[in-house]
Amino acid sequence: MSAKLKVFFVSLLVLSLGFWIGSSIYKYFSYKQSPKIILVGLKGGDHYMGNVTCFIKSDNDYKIDDVSLFLDDKPFAFGNKKVRAKKFEIPFNIETEQLENGQHSLIIEAADSSYNRNKSKDTWIFYVDNKPLKSALLQSEFKVDQGRTLHVKLQSNKILEKVVAKVLGDFYDFYPEEKKSTLYECFIPLDCEDNDGDHLIEVEVQDFVKNKVKLTGNIKINKFNFPRQKGFSISKSKLDEEKEISMNNKILHDALDKWLKNSPKEKMWSGPFETPTVVQWIATQFGEIRTTPERGRYLHKAIDIANRPGSVVWASQNGRIIIKDRYVLSGNTIVIDHGLGVFTHYYHLEDFADIEVGDFVKKGNPVGKLGMTGYATGPHLHWGLYVNNVAVDPVQWTKKSFF
Ligand SMILES: [Zn+2]
Repeated sequence: MSAKLKVFFVSLLVLSLGFWIGSSIYKYFSYKQSPKIILVGLKGGDHYMGNVTCFIKSDNDYKIDDVSLFLDDKPFAFGNKKVRAKKFEIPFNIETEQLENGQHSLIIEAADSSYNRNKSKDTWIFYVDNKPLKSALLQSEFKVDQGRTLHVKLQSNKILEKVVAKVLGDFYDFYPEEKKSTLYECFIPLDCEDNDGDHLIEVEVQDFVKNKVKLTGNIKINKFNFPRQKGFSISKSKLDEEKEISMNNKILHDALDKWLKNSPKEKMWSGPFETPTVVQWIATQFGEIRTTPERGRYLHKAIDIANRPGSVVWASQNGRIIIKDRYVLSGNTIVIDHGLGVFTHYYHLEDFADIEVGDFVKKGNPVGKLGMTGYATGPHLHWGLYVNNVAVDPVQWTKKSFF
């Protein structure tokens, strides 16, 4: 190698060394990012039992000087560790049996070795649950008529992740009776045409650390002799007129299936439901068997309340308006969602109150005026109550004893 070439390479080396030192010094003084710390094995908001294996890792852009760990604000496990590396992993364990059941916090603090000593502080809130799960049904032997609702209650020793009942092949969720309550309840609708006799109720209870308990009970469904009604006929001209201005009731059913999926997972009501208009007389009882030329034989799964046309019809409980439309059979129709898949239906209204779909209404707020729009021969309110879109007797829901 010639002398000139040697000088060239040495100069290049010195230059790049100089450049490296220069940029390192520049980075040392200018670096301003907080250390990025990742916690593996524990997630904020989750529940834990037994021994929890965790580690802290980082792949930071600047060398991290030290890491400190705190449990409930006290130094924990390795306490403070000098890591002096960009990339590292520090394992540690949380023996949750040494901790109280309930809420805890894990804090990780880190500082880098730059001139600015950039710091980070991350907090994870988690829950310890080492309490064995205990749950029981308040009542496990039920007798209920066809077309009624079964109100099942369950007491647990802790807040649960989920409780599901299986009855007649269908699944029903339980919900806390009030926020943060360990008393859970479930409303199971029994269709007018559900088979009578003995049926099993199977309940699966699960807490947040995945402990499971299975409970069973017995439901005796009594055959209910729904009264037979002398049919009626509606004039062809009225029906034709309705068909002209109204939508098919199939559209209502499809809409209700959609709304059911969006029903809030908590009760919007408290206490008994109210009969939504002044009762002059009950024109049709729940479940009456009716035969008409237009519709054939069918069960009338609501009650018809007769009163003067124009009488105020009000919301039987707090809820949200989900349907306000006109249909061939139900006429001017209002449906209110009360949460937990419980809907009330108001049919044949003369007109609507000043409300829109999406509005929240309180028990007693007017929803419309009693009328005879749709498939009706005289002024009355057809009042229905549905649980998971299964029609049940609304009168049961007006009784204090039901709750
Ligand atoms: Zn009716």
